[in-house]
Amino acid sequence: MTLLVWIIVFSLIGGALSVTAAGLFLLIPEQQRTRLLPHAVSFAIGALLGAAFLALLPHAIEGEGVTDVHHITMTVLFGILGFFLLEKMVLWRHCHSGHCEAHGIEHAHDRHAAAGHLILIGDGIHNFVDGVLIAAAFLTDIHLGVVTALAVAAHEIPQEVGDFAILLHSGFSRARALAFNLLSSLTTVAGALLGYFSLSGMEHVVPFILAIAAASFIYIAVADLIPGLHRRLHIEATAQQLALIGAGVAVIFIAHSTLH
Ligand SMILES: [Zn+2]
Ligand SMILES: [Zn+2]
Ligand SMILES: [Zn+2]
Repeated sequence: MTLLVWIIVFSLIGGALSVTAAGLFLLIPEQQRTRLLPHAVSFAIGALLGAAFLALLPHAIEGEGVTDVHHITMTVLFGILGFFLLEKMVLWRHCHSGHCEAHGIEHAHDRHAAAGHLILIGDGIHNFVDGVLIAAAFLTDIHLGVVTALAVAAHEIPQEVGDFAILLHSGFSRARALAFNLLSSLTTVAGALLGYFSLSGMEHVVPFILAIAAASFIYIAVADLIPGLHRRLHIEATAQQLALIGAGVAVIFIAHSTLH
């Protein structure tokens, strides 16, 4: 397979396949769904942090043309602050149910339709960025690309389930919600193609894109996903969460080291 084919296949896995998986997840009865979703979120946290610290950052640091490690760590820092601002602007991101305080949906029922459209725009931008990050990882090394796409898919599936809930809540039919979500997930492929064509031949920039990818994964895991886990405080829930976070880290660790 040529590198471009790898990039297209894995950006489809990170985008369209995640949406399809989330759509199938909606067929499960609601009671089981609300029980399963926190598990998927815990797993995603592990996969994201594993990919950031065990794969992306080491490769960014030893990347071509990196003369000073501080430049990489500085990029991670500004990346995290950048994603903080980005999330402020695209407010309807990263919540996993139709009701969340952050977005005040239950308080402002007239904002339903607006919420639906904003979520699609926010999704489109986020998926586009994910696509660029997947391409940069593949340009460094195929194994890094695979691991990055896995981490993208792991957090996109619970994310898309939440998006579906909001779309349905804001008056979309199931078929329309699926169609629009698939459409916005194709921006992952667009981002990957743009990343591939603009970054090949600019290898010295790639380590910095990897650092931004790490920042994105760390931000999503720590700022968006972990707070939700604190809603369940008892010991069994915490042990379950830790086990699933560990499983997410382990999958990335094993995938990364076996593909090396
Ligand atoms: Zn590696
Ligand atoms: Zn929300
Ligand atoms: Zn993402």
